[in-house]
Amino acid sequence: MELIFELSRAGRRGVKMPTGDVPESASLDPVYTREKDAELPSLSEPEVVRHFTNLSKMNFGVDSHFYPLGSCTMKYNPKITERIAAFSSFASIHPLQPQLVNGGMLTQGALEVISDLENVLCEITGMDEFTTQPMAGAHGELTGIMLIAAHHREKGDRRKYILIPDSGHGTNPASAAIAGYEVKTIKSDDKGVMDMNEFRKEMNEDVAGVMLTCPNTLGIFNPRIKELADLAHASGALMYYDGANLNAIMGKARPGDLGFDIVHLNLHKTFATPHGGGGPGAGPVGVKKHLAEFLPTSRVVKRKDGTFTLDYDRPKSIGYISQFYGNFGVLLKAYAYILIEGKEGLIEVSENAVLNANYLMRRLKGHYDIPYGENCMHEFVISCCRQAKRGVHAVDIAKALIDKGIHPPTIYFPLNVKEAIMIEPTETESRETLDEFVRVMIELAELAEKDPVAFKEFPKTTSVGRLDEVKAARDMNISA
Ligand SMILES: *Cc1c(COP(=O)(O)O)cnc(C)c1O
Repeated sequence: MELIFELSRAGRRGVKMPTGDVPESASLDPVYTREKDAELPSLSEPEVVRHFTNLSKMNFGVDSHFYPLGSCTMKYNPKITERIAAFSSFASIHPLQPQLVNGGMLTQGALEVISDLENVLCEITGMDEFTTQPMAGAHGELTGIMLIAAHHREKGDRRKYILIPDSGHGTNPASAAIAGYEVKTIKSDDKGVMDMNEFRKEMNEDVAGVMLTCPNTLGIFNPRIKELADLAHASGALMYYDGANLNAIMGKARPGDLGFDIVHLNLHKTFATPHGGGGPGAGPVGVKKHLAEFLPTSRVVKRKDGTFTLDYDRPKSIGYISQFYGNFGVLLKAYAYILIEGKEGLIEVSENAVLNANYLMRRLKGHYDIPYGENCMHEFVISCCRQAKRGVHAVDIAKALIDKGIHPPTIYFPLNVKEAIMIEPTETESRETLDEFVRVMIELAELAEKDPVAFKEFPKTTSVGRLDEVKAARDMNISA
């Protein structure tokens, strides 16, 4: 920290810096400091504005295009939540500032937001306690699996396996493996949910936990969750809920009531904050009472006088899993979003997400194969097997969509559907946008029949055209 202060000071010699807690006398060896001002390139404001405006126009985002990305929920996010997160009273505080000094409030507001957010997330999911530390869905999964490990360790119970259905998100087995478990993959049945017979066969006292996404990545709600959870609990295993798809069931069903012990949520999918490109996220983890003592330190707690502080005295905690309290800006956006929507609003979000997906599914039926489900939840998976027989694969349809001004949905996932295209329209799209998507998809299905070779040229509208994917993967020095 001191070094950074000193370097910035050295770079601006002659400018009087506010010193604050930084000692006036620099301890940096003069070998590292400049004699002259750095010769930095300079640009005029219009040049800078044009550069960034042109860059922004090359982007294909949810603020400019329909973005029906299955699994990773790319919905329009209200700008008011961005504005709230940018309030200087939140944006300019630091976790190392005092919580409370001489009656001044300092970081009290931030602690209250975290505490309140934990409470509303408990209410929404039916869990007893939450930590806001994890910075992404996958990070929440790792935290959750570490909690499972802590639970079994406490009992002196050495268990080896985590069971995950074959439709599970790739991060699920990865998180289980990083936490030190072996993964057993359970096949899906012909209805697209975990095969009960396979599950029974694998469930025994070596199993530490079961990781489930519900509704799963096929957009199907498993009606036998309760039975599954009872079987797992009877063997001493814990139930983990991957809550990335919570936007399908908010206000309708709660993982805590369905028998889950641990849940992570993707605040950046369900409750504002557009994500993608690895941007900031938040994957808070909720647990039932019996696991609360293992949650990461520190915990925000409320004192009797109504002020908030941090409790570090948690001997059984798995420790810190991120610095401070997670991505505070993302937490703040989610909190604002939840308060703005309220209970009725959140229920409507889920209802519209499910309605929009079912509308698209019905209208695309007949033009594409839909291997699973009469009805879907918030997303569904089509198969391009019919088109593939004419030489047009899922990737070709995806490339063609770019020319039509639509961001391609997720392709080739989940792995249990051949030539998969996974479509999630989200609740924020209008009937007109959905109809336009249907029109384009039908047009492409017809083109696949009439002129399959045409697809090899798509996309035509981007500056680089069709990327050579093999070259892109192998050759780091491509110039566009
Ligand atoms: C997005 C997603 C994840 C991972 O979340 P990240 O925030 O991207 O790490 C896990 N499971 C499912 C079902 C998802 O859709």
